[in-house]
Amino acid sequence: MNTSLHRTTILRVALDVPSAISARGEVTSPNHTLFDYTWHGAAEVGQRVIVPWGRQTVMGLIVEHSDHSALEPARLREALAVLKDVEPLPSRWFELIGFAARYYQRSFGEVALPALPALLRKAGAYQLNGPVPNSRGMVAIEKKLARWLSSAAKPPPSSPTTVLMPTEARELSEEQKHAVAAICASLAPAIGASAIAPRETPKPWLLFGITGSGKTEVYLHAIRVALNQGQQVLVLVPEINLTPQLERLFRARFPHARLSTLHSGMADGERAMHWLAAHRGQADLLLGTRMAVLTPLPRIGLIIVDEEHDPSFKQQEGLRYSARDLAVMRSQQEGVPVVLGSATPSCESWSQVQRGRYTKLTLTTRAVQQASLPEIRLIDVRRKPMLHGFTEDLREALDQRLQREEQSLVFLNRRGYAPVLCCSACGWISDCRRCSAHMVYHKSDRQLHCHHCGLQAPINRACPDCGNTDLAPLGRGTQRVEEALLEWFPQARIARIDRDSTRRKGTAEGMFAAVHGGAVDILVGTQMVAKGHDFQNLTLVCIVDADGALFSQDFRAPERLFANLMQVAGRAGRADKPGEVLIQTRFTTHPLFAALTDHDYVRFADAQLAERHEAGLPPYSFQAMLRAEARTLDAALKFLATAREQAGPLIDEGGITLYDPVPMPLMRLANLERAQLLIEAAARPLLQSFLPAWISALQALRTGVRWHVEVDPVEI
Ligand code: ADP
Ligand code: ZN
Ligand code: ZN
Repeated sequence: MNTSLHRTTILRVALDVPSAISARGEVTSPNHTLFDYTWHGAAEVGQRVIVPWGRQTVMGLIVEHSDHSALEPARLREALAVLKDVEPLPSRWFELIGFAARYYQRSFGEVALPALPALLRKAGAYQLNGPVPNSRGMVAIEKKLARWLSSAAKPPPSSPTTVLMPTEARELSEEQKHAVAAICASLAPAIGASAIAPRETPKPWLLFGITGSGKTEVYLHAIRVALNQGQQVLVLVPEINLTPQLERLFRARFPHARLSTLHSGMADGERAMHWLAAHRGQADLLLGTRMAVLTPLPRIGLIIVDEEHDPSFKQQEGLRYSARDLAVMRSQQEGVPVVLGSATPSCESWSQVQRGRYTKLTLTTRAVQQASLPEIRLIDVRRKPMLHGFTEDLREALDQRLQREEQSLVFLNRRGYAPVLCCSACGWISDCRRCSAHMVYHKSDRQLHCHHCGLQAPINRACPDCGNTDLAPLGRGTQRVEEALLEWFPQARIARIDRDSTRRKGTAEGMFAAVHGGAVDILVGTQMVAKGHDFQNLTLVCIVDADGALFSQDFRAPERLFANLMQVAGRAGRADKPGEVLIQTRFTTHPLFAALTDHDYVRFADAQLAERHEAGLPPYSFQAMLRAEARTLDAALKFLATAREQAGPLIDEGGITLYDPVPMPLMRLANLERAQLLIEAAARPLLQSFLPAWISALQALRTGVRWHVEVDPVEI
């Protein structure tokens, strides 16, 4: 480490730019991912650095330093400031970021910089003219952190849900005991203890337990042991809305542990503070959504991914990563156990168990003695009259629950009032003018909303095509269902929980608390209500329409539907009262429903995997997607065709298939036409060696078309 002030050091800096791109005036270093700057002074690897980039000033991260550069001295620019307000990022974090960058085909900086909290990567926040570069934001964060440290282990805030929360550790069932023992045996020795024998990195655990089987209780026991060993624990959950209740549970169970949370609903300052507490080893438990997976944790000892199958672990913009996969990767790198928990594991994880790469731990019964799995009944809507999308069966069942003073959940995975507004005279429908999608009719604000690009427009008084004033909403969303229920059951207390009704911070929590507290008779909701919540008095779940996803193009749609329905169904009958689930469908003989009514995930998953094996789909092949967007579809498709030609010489060896470029399912989004090209490989290494060469070739094309490559793509 050169700290001499007399010599000039060369800093190799990672910036948030694609690998081969170089702003005017800058030259990339030989490996094309780091940029050389001169610096006269002390600097350590892992520190942040402010550097000029073209005409801008940007934040970078020192990855290497050296005493010479391959570049001509005249072309080297000087770094503006090396920041010492945050301790250098450790080498293990660099390994994790490096892995993610290689795996997802991004430059190191494209992964590293966005992984830092926004406040720590804003070059503009720093005053550079004083003796030490300083940022008022950082000063405030340090103050906040100092306060947090003196007050961090507070008692759980009181809230209606706390009453229902088991704050005492439970006597574990035999299956739970076995799972806890297995996980704990795989923990690394306590921090500070000297290792007696070299340890093998434990295989990932798949905790497969039906809803209500007590998976959370297993996590809690394992977490306690890891905390007692002085280790940090990372817990990932799919939804922001699940954090408050888990947070309270953790606080109640571990009053002396310092708990940090990280999710996208937090203010920048708060996020930076929690990140810093984790990075400095001051936080013992880190609870967060997918973004938390890249947080540095010097004492990490255990990783838990709850609801590991959930699609929201996949980031769908920027670095398109799977937090679940990175969590597994990280556990292997750090040599610590990872627990993937689910009632309906992803097909990927299930096949890893079959291949012997993951170890399965099973919980087969509901934890609460009297609780049993709900009875799932299919209602054949082909033979029944419907009113506002409801059969008599559903209405009667709801009425019964009202009379018994039990709660019901009406599930419909479509928000808004109606998915489209339609002219009965000429057939005009409310299309978004910027997307190939319909505008959704929202009655509450009397607006049409595009759920894809966010465009809003007032509801048309008359048909823009023929002038007819009789425009009718077609189909139904949660708002319309709520309206119908209010009409049928005027005495009932009805609450709707979806993204629209919970836009303001804290609303969702308040509404869930009202349901827990018994202030709601009928809960109407989208998949926001399906996850995690353990409603004690809920005995009926109505699924209004499950058919939409049955025949989707997307090969993952059945898996998602099954998981979704299983999860919603799991909300019923969690305590001592038996639960019932009614599903309206036109396809009562579909095999998915047969497995569902038997609560037989294993049969379903095995059948899915057999189908995918037959068709050569993941996890039996390895995919990447090249997506392009342009003003015209033609331009996007042309780019992809050229890209396909470029691949020719790179795939001589075989084992890689490039499909024809096609328009994306949602072809036009916010006035951009989008197309995609699927790449499929017989083995992961083939894909991983083909992509970098191909991407370099594409970068050299320098077309005006915007494009990106997604590894392990999922449909959007
Ligand atoms: P899951 O996470 O598998 O859906 P939970 O961990 O939420 O299930 O457990 C469901 C319910 O069972 C909770 O109310 C929990 O307190 C209770 N529970 C869990 N384990 C036990 C146990 N060993 N004995 C009694 N109740 C338990
Ligand atoms: Zn018309
Ligand atoms: Zn739109």
